[in-house]
Amino acid sequence: MYSSLIDDAGRTITCPRCEQPQPMRDFATLGMSPRYAQLLDPIYRCKQCNHLFAPRQQMSAASAAA
Ligand SMILES: [Zn+2]
Repeated sequence: MYSSLIDDAGRTITCPRCEQPQPMRDFATLGMSPRYAQLLDPIYRCKQCNHLFAPRQQMSAASAAA
């Protein structure tokens, strides 16, 4: 059971398909306009299985980034 796909402490993201935790830097963020970034959820592509997913943004992460 994961409470979050994103592990800020470990700097990893767990792919919801292959369930492999991988370093954040290994995920490509697709087509994010910087101008509207605050209004968008980033979409990630897993390098291992090519699954596309958008982790639900957590309030703490969102306010920390703002
Ligand atoms: Zn995957």
